[in-house]
Amino acid sequence: MTIRDNIQTIGERIRAAEQGFGREPGSVHLLAVSKKHPTASIREAILAGQTQFGENYVQEMVEKAAELANSGIVWHFIGPIQSNKTRLIAATARWVHSVDSVKIAKRLSEQKPADAPDINICLQVNISGEASKSGVTPEDLPELAAQIATLPGIRLRGLMAIPAPEHDFTKQCAVFAQVRALQENLVSQGFSLDTLSMGMTDDMEAAIAEGATIVRIGTAIFGAR
Ligand SMILES: *Cc1c(COP(=O)(O)O)cnc(C)c1O
Repeated sequence: MTIRDNIQTIGERIRAAEQGFGREPGSVHLLAVSKKHPTASIREAILAGQTQFGENYVQEMVEKAAELANSGIVWHFIGPIQSNKTRLIAATARWVHSVDSVKIAKRLSEQKPADAPDINICLQVNISGEASKSGVTPEDLPELAAQIATLPGIRLRGLMAIPAPEHDFTKQCAVFAQVRALQENLVSQGFSLDTLSMGMTDDMEAAIAEGATIVRIGTAIFGAR
């Protein structure tokens, strides 16, 4: 299977899941997670029509962005954020999915280049069973959202989650449903949010069933890392 074949297959899985779970056609977007894969693989994905790419490591994203300048890629940063790296992130990424503190959001807000569009932000939530230690707790989420929503230069779009690996579809759905409920709660408080970044290679269908609008897929496109 080539990268082109894989992207086509994932696209078909996304469309099938949208239809199967009563989602609007085209409401789920594919983010190709290219971490630890070479720019040659990214070029193959571009030729297959993919434009949105996600990276976890700042240095790697910046180097790839330089190599692939003028290729039309929209970069999404999805990894843990150290505060001394925010300037590089702000200069390269149009989306940051892994914001979990006011400090990081303020730095992105201040460091966004003046001529660049607002950076789209998702707050990473640490739901029960979160695989990493990152993320804001559900209790602290409303206060964090309130502090971030008014900052210039960034736009709060929604939530992101990385549940711990789980093979049972029903259990996968239960965790994603928690994330969706947190989002709905914020919306009911007046936040205008339209993005749920959730679902990876092994839990994509469950995430789509529970309202994902961006699925972050690495292995099923580029192979094992
Ligand atoms: C690596 C990674 C992915 C992609 O995971 P796959 O299982 O390879 O599809 C998605 N999101 C985040 C935050 C990641 O670090």
